[in-house]
Amino acid sequence: MAHGGKRADVDQTWGVLQEGNVVPSETMFDSKIRVEGRTIPGCKTIACSFEEQAARTPDTIALVFQDQRITYRQLDERSNQLARYLRSLGVKPETLVGVLMERSEKLVIALLAVLKAGGAYVPLDPGYPRERIVFLVEDSQAPFILTTQFIAAIVPTVAARVVCVDGEAPAIAGQNAAPLADAGSEENLMYVIYTSGSTGKPKGVMVEHRNVLSFFAAMDEALGKQPGTWLAVTSISFDISVLELFWTLTRGFQVVLHGDEGAHTIPQEILRHGITHFQSTPSLARMIAADPRSLAAFGGVENLLLGGEVLPVSLMNTLRSAITGHVYNVYGPTETTIWSTVYSIPQAAEFTTNIPIGKPLANTRAYILDSELRPVAAGESGELYLSGEGVVRGYWAHPEWTSERFIPDRISGTGRMYRTGDVARFLPDGNIEFLGRSDFQLKLRGFRIELEEIEATLEQHPAVRQAVVVAREDRPGDQRLIGYVVLHDGNAATASSLRDMLASRLPEYMVPSQIVLMDRLPLTANGKIDRNGLPVVSIQSDAAVAGNEARNEMERTVAETWAEILGVEFVGLHQNFFDLGATSLMVPEVQIELQRKLGREIPLTDLFEFHTVSSLAGHLSGEQLASRTSDRAQRRLAARNRSAASL
Ligand code: AMP
Repeated sequence: MAHGGKRADVDQTWGVLQEGNVVPSETMFDSKIRVEGRTIPGCKTIACSFEEQAARTPDTIALVFQDQRITYRQLDERSNQLARYLRSLGVKPETLVGVLMERSEKLVIALLAVLKAGGAYVPLDPGYPRERIVFLVEDSQAPFILTTQFIAAIVPTVAARVVCVDGEAPAIAGQNAAPLADAGSEENLMYVIYTSGSTGKPKGVMVEHRNVLSFFAAMDEALGKQPGTWLAVTSISFDISVLELFWTLTRGFQVVLHGDEGAHTIPQEILRHGITHFQSTPSLARMIAADPRSLAAFGGVENLLLGGEVLPVSLMNTLRSAITGHVYNVYGPTETTIWSTVYSIPQAAEFTTNIPIGKPLANTRAYILDSELRPVAAGESGELYLSGEGVVRGYWAHPEWTSERFIPDRISGTGRMYRTGDVARFLPDGNIEFLGRSDFQLKLRGFRIELEEIEATLEQHPAVRQAVVVAREDRPGDQRLIGYVVLHDGNAATASSLRDMLASRLPEYMVPSQIVLMDRLPLTANGKIDRNGLPVVSIQSDAAVAGNEARNEMERTVAETWAEILGVEFVGLHQNFFDLGATSLMVPEVQIELQRKLGREIPLTDLFEFHTVSSLAGHLSGEQLASRTSDRAQRRLAARNRSAASL
């Protein structure tokens, strides 16, 4: 396909081909993209792009975290000092630096510093189990880990040099605040983000500066270049955080960094800071929109990006009642850099079926192909392939995985295309409709999960002979992971010990809510596991577990209310309501009932944030400091303590 300055029409001969614009931009690198024979000069790395912005608006506030307000100049200088320190230790282009830090202004400085030193960052979530962190560090072979003293205790004892940004502050502050000159080029790595792997191991996706520069130029076209205020809520372990942190900071935005305190403060932050741009998964948006007052906070948001999983029609209709600004359904795998298609949802649109995922962003091509890699007939479904400047280098240290998913783009005749595993079709207006997956990957509450990774982890347990994990939706809107396990003969392992083993190795969102021990797994006529024949599991409560009863009046009120609404006899102190089968539709019922019993208002978001009798009751009675932090923050703390204790 010829590149032109405007979007190519749907090609009638192929019937199924889409191509985004090729956009010029001052941030577009010159060596790759040519527009009508012209090369476009500009920065070759995100670090350079940020430095140019800092020079344009040095006194503008770049970053807000809690009561800290940091200007572009300050952010630039502080990250330059850390970059120079990292360089003195040996960080240069293509060096991987693990970043294991809580969310704070220091995290943004650390990421910028890695990039300014020319290195690439590998996000390591302190909330992950220690074994997971060990695996990521060992697999990536990152020679450096950037962290803080507080969480340094959980840094695995590996051969990496651990740099504590607070502990080594005097040495860092002694560095020159001017930028380094040789911070790499567009073909160098910017980050390696690990995602769930179908082979049973997480896989590191290698993304280069050129991928991100091209994507940023595409976002300029999609969202416009007018800077605003962006509330950044996404963990750096997910690539959409790169849009929140770096598209913004290379365009003069003010970034308000949301901390680890949980989603219930998001509506207040949107109002307090006059947020104009916000990005979230539909799961997070649904949680916020469940409370009409929180929903109202979206009112002033000019650009709301929703993506990462299917955008339900019901959620969109709810959001539309509050939002007059632009709402986008964005779609894209990590392997093709952040987002690849965008659908700007028309104001007056009333959807009854799927909301389209739109058309390819600039510098991106989308094809829908059959199993022979031929474009399907117009309107037919097939597998979605993505091509263009977003297609990344591949998977870290696994060329065989790379060559399986990244193949030559024979349709356009240039470059490579990525096989997404998504099933889709083109609508008559050229928009793409997402229809589902062709494999066992899924999204659960916005998290990408390969069921095979959970199965492989279960099968590492010596007692387990066979394991299969499915996402069941026995009640509408209530998708839960259930593991079915056959033990070796004579083995007495319990379901809860298997669950504990998984919790020590996998991120919390990958741990099934229930493990069912089976004598054998059902088989289809041709001898494969019959996933549809697996039994429905009923809600189990922990009545039999001693020490799980409510200890005070508040806990009793909460436990009884949940039990009534769930229709179970008993809810244990530490059981997760959602694991017990609570759906988001039940949460407002609980709110009404608890408000009636306690005679006071309870924000709906509290009920989404505090999932156990113990944490919710603790929060509602406001007794202990620890109970005022959300479950997520508590889990992080617990993970830290667990790990510290095991050292
Ligand atoms: P990730 O690499 O975590 O960004 O996950 C990418 C996968 O999430 C895609 O291949 C899709 O299966 C799914 N996905 C992302 N965005 C959307 C969307 N807007 N609608 C439906 N599925 C989506």
